Amino acid sequence: MQIKRGDHFSSLDLGNLEKLMQYRFEHDSFPFAVEGKKFLRDDLALSGMEVSVQELPPRFAVPFHHRHKENEELYFFLGGRGEFQIDGEIIPVREGTVIRVSPGGVRTWRNNSDEALYYLVIQAKAGSMNGSDISDGEDVKKKVVWPD
Ligand code: ZN
Repeated sequence: MQIKRGDHFSSLDLGNLEKLMQYRFEHDSFPFAVEGKKFLRDDLALSGMEVSVQELPPRFAVPFHHRHKENEELYFFLGGRGEFQIDGEIIPVREGTVIRVSPGGVRTWRNNSDEALYYLVIQAKAGSMNGSDISDGEDVKKKVVWPD
């Protein structure tokens, strides 16, 4: 996995989603390693959010609930099928399902299918966005040129 950095960017190529199982997340506060999960904050030097991408194997259920102190999370499902449980409510998920969870939401999820379940999790401090949508962007007067 090669990381490219510039003055105003960093990028990497994780490969196809089917290759996510090569990644493994371990943390002192976690009793077991999580196969197939890749956090991006450190590699990309993200400063206002954490993003992870994960493959959950067929018929695998996350074995715990969790909530957050300050951060809201967006779960963006990219492929496969499963179920998401928030405060006891169950939402079916598949490619294109997007779920926001407030910090206090008690959540867990599972892959109850025979195919892999793929998703992104974006975590940011709840209430930290000031403007909305495109109001933070500025037009740059520069001709668009591609070297081809
Ligand atoms: Zn979380």
